[in-house]
Amino acid sequence: MSKTLGNSAGQLDQKFRNWCLSNPSKLYGDVVFENVAKVRELQVNCIRDFNETASDIFDDILGGEDLNVKNNDASDMIRDQGNKVYQKKQFKAAIDCYNKAISHAKDDSVLALGYANRSAVLFQMEEFKACYRDIERAIMSSYPQNLVHKLLDRKGKCLMKLSHFSEAIITFGEAIAMAKKNISDETKLRPFINEAQKGLKLCSSKKSSSVQMVNYFDSEESNLPMLTGMNPKMPAFSKAVKITYSKENGRHGVATRKIGCGEVILVENSGFNFANFNSRVEVCTHCLSPKLDLIPSPLSANDMFCCTTCKENAMNSYHDKEARLLSILENSGLGQEEWLISLRLVLSKSLSFFLEDS
Ligand SMILES: [Zn+2]
Repeated sequence: MSKTLGNSAGQLDQKFRNWCLSNPSKLYGDVVFENVAKVRELQVNCIRDFNETASDIFDDILGGEDLNVKNNDASDMIRDQGNKVYQKKQFKAAIDCYNKAISHAKDDSVLALGYANRSAVLFQMEEFKACYRDIERAIMSSYPQNLVHKLLDRKGKCLMKLSHFSEAIITFGEAIAMAKKNISDETKLRPFINEAQKGLKLCSSKKSSSVQMVNYFDSEESNLPMLTGMNPKMPAFSKAVKITYSKENGRHGVATRKIGCGEVILVENSGFNFANFNSRVEVCTHCLSPKLDLIPSPLSANDMFCCTTCKENAMNSYHDKEARLLSILENSGLGQEEWLISLRLVLSKSLSFFLEDS
């Protein structure tokens, strides 16, 4: 492994080696490694010295790269592929293409087209909440005004399916108004208006049973099961479990009372997650949720998030640095999953976590 690093880590490795050569006093030198504790102390001191004296050592490499690997042409091309499989009613394949088109989009106008096309698939899949979110995202990302009547018509149908009849009536009205502005050909305008009016009529007849509108952008509650009572010493366990030790079995859990069939006794979040390469842009980079309407990373074309909360949590810990390092690692031949898992783990925690956690 070290041979691989030595051979191909490129500029980053060379920078670190130069720092080592010019700071011999901060390295181990002739110190005798007396015991594990002494070695750890030396390692901690070395990391601390490196961080204090050379925290900006890689800035010219990281700052000089074109870090935004997003590309509108690539987005357009992948979206076209999505259109082809959508026409064949291969909805999952179409979602995968539109996800990639969305993650590659550099400009809002291109991003909006990706959202709008994905919303069409989601409507066919009867995923009306996700469809509604994508339509709203497309409109907020400057979807072309001369086409927006189609999107508003889909939004009206979505609201109707979600039983928000009052909001659907308003939206169908907006769709008709925009169509009158956008479509000059009467033979095309009339069928559009007739279709929207059908929706209007249906919603008007059901208006009294309209369901109150909710914010479909709110993060959905975690679907992790709840413990009935938390173990005071080990919060991931329920109180129904006690951790104990015996010579024969080592450390193990035992029931403190009768545990019912199906009762949840352990719920624990993982320290960090990492999607394998085949699943990238199919699941949330942060929590691995396989949501159908993922949103793009602002930095990388290879990462998507299930919601703004995951995006912000990732941005506030590892994602900023990881996205900036990724292209360098890949260009250095170090883009393998095992390296990136280690990188995610290291970047997910602060330096103090590694220095102080004994
Ligand atoms: Zn997530």
